[in-house]
Amino acid sequence: MFNIVIFGAPGSGKGTQSENLIANYGLFHISTGEVLRDHIARGTELGKVAESYISKGNLIPDDLMVSILADILDNTPEAKDGVIFDGFPRTINQAKALKAMLAERNAQVDAVVGLEVEEQELITRLLKRGEESGRSDDNMETIKQRLNVYHSQTQPLHDFYVEEGCYLGIKGMGTVESIFDDIKAAIKEKCGK
Ligand code: AMP
Repeated sequence: MFNIVIFGAPGSGKGTQSENLIANYGLFHISTGEVLRDHIARGTELGKVAESYISKGNLIPDDLMVSILADILDNTPEAKDGVIFDGFPRTINQAKALKAMLAERNAQVDAVVGLEVEEQELITRLLKRGEESGRSDDNMETIKQRLNVYHSQTQPLHDFYVEEGCYLGIKGMGTVESIFDDIKAAIKEKCGK
């Protein structure tokens, strides 16, 4: 089992580079943001709860998010060979829970691909995505809150994973192809894959 966490601020390119990672390493993709947006689109109870947080740019509570993820891992046979976790974990508590969930399955986070992008570039990309995709949380007010939340709750994961010894810092500026070349080189060097 080879598990990758793709980590970075909103707009850092996690979704785009996840697609490249899936194509290259044949991993199962779990995007917690997509899972939640799917619930919202289907109008489920969970979707209603999720929307109240997402529309304000805040995180869904850890307990709820961890139980959603555990459910996916338990009920998805394709996830057994390896997963790319996109948008999860987003807090230290979630990272600890992920570590425990994978340990129960004799597995671990093998690499954390950290996409590092300057703040102004993040805002430009998110506003552009908002125009193109119509994602309702890609508006200036919500973007600002999402970046605040990222700095206060998610960024501390950088040090957590550096200590765990699996953090691969990647400059997330430039073309999609050149960034992916850097990701592949780092995974090969650090993980031999
Ligand atoms: P994303 O598509 O990853 O940018 O996520 C969109 C929104 O979904 C976030 O701003 C959060 O409100 C929520 N969300 C996604 N993943 C998580 C998570 N791991 N923990 C808490 N909230 C999340």
